[in-house]
Amino acid sequence: MGEMEAMYRELGISSQVLAYGDKIEKELKSRFDEIDKTAEYNQLKVLHAMQKNKVSEACLYPSTGYGYNDMGRDTLESVYADTFHTESALVRPLLACGTHALAVALAGNLRPGDELLSPVGKPYDTLEEVIGIRPSKGSLAEYGVTYRQVELLEDGTFDYDGIRAAINENTKLVEIQRSKGYLTRPTFSVEQIGELISFIKGIKSDVICMVDNCYGEFVERLEPSDVGADLVVGSLIKNPGGGLAPIGGYIAGKEEYVENAAYRLTCPGLGKEVGASLGVNSAFYQGFFLSPSVTAGALKGAIFAANIYERLGFAVTPDSKEERHDIIQAVTFGTPEGVIEFCKGIQAAAPVDSYVEPEPWAMPGYDSDVIMAAGAFVSGSSIELSADGPIKPPYTVYFQGGLTWYHAKLGILMSLQKLVDKKLVTLPE
Ligand SMILES: *Cc1c(COP(=O)(O)O)cnc(C)c1O
Repeated sequence: MGEMEAMYRELGISSQVLAYGDKIEKELKSRFDEIDKTAEYNQLKVLHAMQKNKVSEACLYPSTGYGYNDMGRDTLESVYADTFHTESALVRPLLACGTHALAVALAGNLRPGDELLSPVGKPYDTLEEVIGIRPSKGSLAEYGVTYRQVELLEDGTFDYDGIRAAINENTKLVEIQRSKGYLTRPTFSVEQIGELISFIKGIKSDVICMVDNCYGEFVERLEPSDVGADLVVGSLIKNPGGGLAPIGGYIAGKEEYVENAAYRLTCPGLGKEVGASLGVNSAFYQGFFLSPSVTAGALKGAIFAANIYERLGFAVTPDSKEERHDIIQAVTFGTPEGVIEFCKGIQAAAPVDSYVEPEPWAMPGYDSDVIMAAGAFVSGSSIELSADGPIKPPYTVYFQGGLTWYHAKLGILMSLQKLVDKKLVTLPE
């Protein structure tokens, strides 16, 4: 037995499972090479923005109190703006999560009587209460902002006629969610998003086009802000935090719209001027610097899993060959046991809490039990290897992340090992 095989064996991976995984990995070489090229390009993009803005050692120091003249914070915001090719950016630990960043961008730019349009069907679950699709205290609906939604066509493409019909004199802001999140529709490419934005601007040129960029950053060479988005918004405990940001969100885009968001985040008049970064600057910089290669590792993991499970007869979305526009992978097992064993494998491969066994439980806000696997350095971070699945038909597990490709590989092999051990899967000879 070679030393690699012996090492995997020590971690609980049989030679048979390893050999199966290695065979598939070999077949993915050219795709992995392509991902590495994208990471190389994006690494240079981030590095260039850091050099251009003269990031210095002093930028890494903490600030306290009001945070006036927080040079590290302000420079980091310029680095984000230059990376996303926008006029301005807001990158803050005060943005508690992705939903908060999206809510701040929306509330900062919408006024009573304005209408918000989602041309891509239902937005991410947590936005339902922000918008007021599900009534909630302080929702945009309570402030007199109306909402309209145009469903995607059967084949997952944009309903251009429906979108044209939905845009009216009150339409102020269009929210385009890039990633499918936990829906079954496809994730949109940056190119598709660009086409949609051109179409919308052709009908109403002053409408604000905002993209929920969660899980999409650095998956491609271009970002939605390169193809016409006025605002891009995301979470730092996903791709752009590179696994190091302990909290935070970003809003990048046109100066005026970012300022509107900043006025909402802090208060009118103070905007971006206040908000001490405390001690997070250093992690924000370093995480952003690592993000292109971290995202590449997660992407390889997603493709590896799609290829492993598709060949074993399970439905996977995206499929084994499809081009990727985010880091999420769905695998449909068709049985509760499949979902549970998969999640146990992901948990067992974690650097933190590897010894605990995840179990399905009745999570608030869900209509079925849900099982979650995560052994993360940053609580709830989903750029770290993580998986979750509702225990209901069609018994699909969603997984994402992996700070390194090697860890993602181990996680997926471990999930396969659990399924093989429970005889839910038989490997081909
Ligand atoms: C994660 C995510 C959000 C919200 O992020 P939280 O950080 O969980 O609040 C919004 N939209 C999409 C597409 C996401 O993936």
